[in-house]
Amino acid sequence: MKPPFKPLRQTRAYLDVLAQIREAILTGTYPPGSKLPSERELTEQFQVSRVVIREAIRALELSGFVRIRQGPYGGAYIEDLSSAPIVRSFLDLFMANKFCAEELIQARLLMEPEVARLAAARLDECLAKRLKEAFLLEKRGKPTDDQWVRQNLEVHYILALMSGNRLYEAILASLLALTHEIVRVVKPPHQLIHNHEEHGAIVEAVLSGDPDTAALAMKEHLRSVGHALVRLERQYREKTGRMGLSVPSETVSEHPLS
Ligand SMILES: [Zn+2]
Repeated sequence: MKPPFKPLRQTRAYLDVLAQIREAILTGTYPPGSKLPSERELTEQFQVSRVVIREAIRALELSGFVRIRQGPYGGAYIEDLSSAPIVRSFLDLFMANKFCAEELIQARLLMEPEVARLAAARLDECLAKRLKEAFLLEKRGKPTDDQWVRQNLEVHYILALMSGNRLYEAILASLLALTHEIVRVVKPPHQLIHNHEEHGAIVEAVLSGDPDTAALAMKEHLRSVGHALVRLERQYREKTGRMGLSVPSETVSEHPLS
């Protein structure tokens, strides 16, 4: 068997470079959309080799801080920070069997009733319109598989936006992306995982500014989502070859998913 590690090519100088550039981005020296100094300029400023600079820029790119553009105006451009890296990390953890669907749904059950409560309590007109539209689209549309799942999760995501808590929004975006991934791989029949009435009850309560009813409706909805998701996980792990530990043996139930 090949040894799992390769010899280090150089010192960890790039970590110091990385830390300084990150600090400059976070404190606004380089705002979103602006360009980092060129490789040559950075090499001169930091007094290190090009390899070190390249390594630091690569790390910035992987963590979503910059995007590399090619061509005459190419270079490392600062990204508007988003929750995308958190979404990827959660997905990696799930795929690597570091947590299971049951734990995913426990977290959603804790957070989303509160999100629905907040959404109803601080009703924002613009987002309320978006919520209504997303719900109607979900009811009407006959889209392709991927769009269909997206539409169903959209209602949950808009509620997270409406909660006004950006940390809830980032965490829920990750948990919803996971739900999306499981459904995308398993492709269960739509009628088994879809329930308009449950979404309807949540949306209605939020739009009428009734926090308690909204929270309760979300809780009930997630309980049935949970049953379906836990059962789908087994099929997911079989299909992807990533077997979980404590997954029940039943097949897909009649419970709705999103
Ligand atoms: Zn749902």
